[in-house]
Amino acid sequence: MVETWLVDAMRSYNAESYSMRHAYAAQLHLPGPVFRELVVWALQSLPDEILVGLDVDPNRKHIDKVESAFEGQEHVSNLFGGQGYVIKEAHVVNRGDSYSVHHLPEEWTDDLFSGQRGSRAGRFTHWLHTHPNAPAIPSGADTDAAQETTGVDMILGLRFSPEGPLPWFDDVDGTRRSLGTEHAPKTKRSWFSRKELPVLGIAPTGHSIHDIQLIAFHKTGLGVNVLLIDESGYPYGWDELIQPTS
Ligand SMILES: [Zn+2]
Repeated sequence: MVETWLVDAMRSYNAESYSMRHAYAAQLHLPGPVFRELVVWALQSLPDEILVGLDVDPNRKHIDKVESAFEGQEHVSNLFGGQGYVIKEAHVVNRGDSYSVHHLPEEWTDDLFSGQRGSRAGRFTHWLHTHPNAPAIPSGADTDAAQETTGVDMILGLRFSPEGPLPWFDDVDGTRRSLGTEHAPKTKRSWFSRKELPVLGIAPTGHSIHDIQLIAFHKTGLGVNVLLIDESGYPYGWDELIQPTS
């Protein structure tokens, strides 16, 4: 069950993905319930970052109509493994700091899990890691780690409170993609806070979520446009985005 505030945030993100479609070389369709899991796992694992492996469903292709609506002028076919297929499931495979998180524990690199994981053995198509209280912008270590990825790498940046040991870190350059902060209601002004942060929603962990950022990139550095889709395979907000043309 995906909360209303998160659905609203995903609609807003998709609207931006649509308007920015020409800035991307490819697209990736991520189901909302899987995305919700990623946000919850990220918060449950604080203060660590987590590394998540994602597999696509070989029997579920992107819906053609959606694919062509979001296709940019710079579209590249066959850019990465799993391109054109919807993400099916996610598994947390590691946690740690911004360096150690990329070093997989042995049980994921040997054959232990291959039986559970079918033909692809220990390797996932796509990877995502989290940036707790930092923007979703790749570091040098992130770019290095991406070189072994078959599919794409994603970063989930979360701004939340209470912050715990991780005050918001924002001293990074790069393209940011937020989920709907512009639509979030401002919190009531308080005499005790220096600035008011919008609250998108309250996570099941009790954290107030101020911002969610999500980016995907190919190891060559090309940006990949993420679409957050519902059970039917259409992006949240599709009806408002795409007016019927005939
Ligand atoms: Zn990182």
